[in-house]
Amino acid sequence: MMIDRDMRKRLIVAVANRVIAGAEELTDLDRAIGDGDHGTNMRRGFEAVLAAADELSDKSLGESLKGVGTTLVMKVGGASGPLYGTLFMSLGKSLADDVSQEQVADAFADAIEAVKARGKSNVGHKTMLDVLHPVLGTLRGDGDSLAARLKVTAKRAAEDTIPMKAIRGRASFLGERSVGHMDPGARSSELIVDAVADVMEGCA
Ligand code: ADP
Ligand code: MG
Repeated sequence: MMIDRDMRKRLIVAVANRVIAGAEELTDLDRAIGDGDHGTNMRRGFEAVLAAADELSDKSLGESLKGVGTTLVMKVGGASGPLYGTLFMSLGKSLADDVSQEQVADAFADAIEAVKARGKSNVGHKTMLDVLHPVLGTLRGDGDSLAARLKVTAKRAAEDTIPMKAIRGRASFLGERSVGHMDPGARSSELIVDAVADVMEGCA
């Protein structure tokens, strides 16, 4: 598929608006098992991305993703800023404007490894990785309506963090008391995937 300027702009605007709209919910989730700033952090970052949407989408897909990543590193802060920054910058390294599903999956796999390395974390630690990794599994699969399957996977995966005990991030300070709450970063990853899938459906 060809990800042209119009598509890049739609993706950037949809993702940014979804995160901004979810900021209060993300903050509430972080209030339960963290320090209550995830929504504010993400809103600040994605407001900056939204403000630069035109300029970012003028660039190639790779450069626009790198631009999103550096903006997030500069603006989000907290633990999640460098981690989401790493995710987007890594995606930007390998994606050309004309990409196959397999190339997206390979780039996403590399980006997940980069996040793990940066966060010294892994799947099962009750973090954003617990959504990103199952989403990779769906990207690797085949069948109809990829967008719909991505949405289902991301939603279930975020819900699946509820019974987990946090091993990384601030929530890990709570030990067993982190059980019973959805991880805020897992939910923000779900929102990002869901917004991308919405744009894919609109263009199908
Ligand atoms: P902080 O924890 O510094 O307040 P945020 O509240 O913005 O930062 O982000 C918290 C989210 O970041 C968590 O819910 C989790 O998903 C993610 N996170 C934190 N530490 C790590 C890590 N080491 N690896 C992967 N994700 C992490
Ligand atoms: Mg926090």
